Amino acid sequence: IPVIVLSARTDMSSKVAAFVLGAVDYVTKPFELIELRVRLRAALRMNHMMRLLSHRAQIDGLTGLWNRTYFDSRWREEFSRAHRQGHALALAFIDIDHFKSVNDNYGHPVGDSVLQGVARVLQRDPRASDVACRYGGEEFVLVMPDTGAVDAAVVCERLRRAMAELRWSRVPDLRVTVSMGVAGATGMTTATAENWIEAADRNLYAAKKAGRNRV
Ligand code: GH3
Ligand code: MG
Ligand code: MG
Repeated sequence: IPVIVLSARTDMSSKVAAFVLGAVDYVTKPFELIELRVRLRAALRMNHMMRLLSHRAQIDGLTGLWNRTYFDSRWREEFSRAHRQGHALALAFIDIDHFKSVNDNYGHPVGDSVLQGVARVLQRDPRASDVACRYGGEEFVLVMPDTGAVDAAVVCERLRRAMAELRWSRVPDLRVTVSMGVAGATGMTTATAENWIEAADRNLYAAKKAGRNRV
């Protein structure tokens, strides 16, 4: 909430003190209502811009999913909550198979459409409480609160199938598959937040090694 100080004190040190304490503006009495009103509007405009920018800073521009910065803080939050309350929690890493060859064969704009298509499935299909983020490049991550490893694997299997069924009108013959690594627990665990990421990543690597297009 932006604070504007309205005071009969006109000395410099009072004004400075107000700003030091966090005021965004200082109006001295007697004041004109019209001036106070425009100063209020300016303060609210700035506040609105700040909120908008801080939201944008957490959104991936290409896919509209949460970005890596958001994931890092949200994951720590979800991890602590699950840890504290002994709730289930699952994390899935999703990596598009042979994505480099999509770019190489069809060009980067088609590659971008593929990323958007995969992102749309991630945003549409899971539960509303699930958090889909673009981790970087052609890698995505899904945080599933209150979900154990087995249930998370079922969700991921459904997502994997939905992604294999995606089609692009400009390149009708294009087929895209993804590999996924899941890590989850239904209750208390000694694993750290980093351990979970490492485990999901390890399982993703295993899915790749076992032939891709699998959870
Ligand atoms: P693998 O099956 O082992 O995952 O192979 P891969 O080709 O998917 O993996 P690799 O890491 O070799 O290639 C990832 C590619 O993703 C390379 C990079 O150019 C591309 N890429 C990363 N970000 C973007 C993007 O924003 N747009 C497009 N079009 N391509 C991107
Ligand atoms: Mg990758
Ligand atoms: Mg890949």
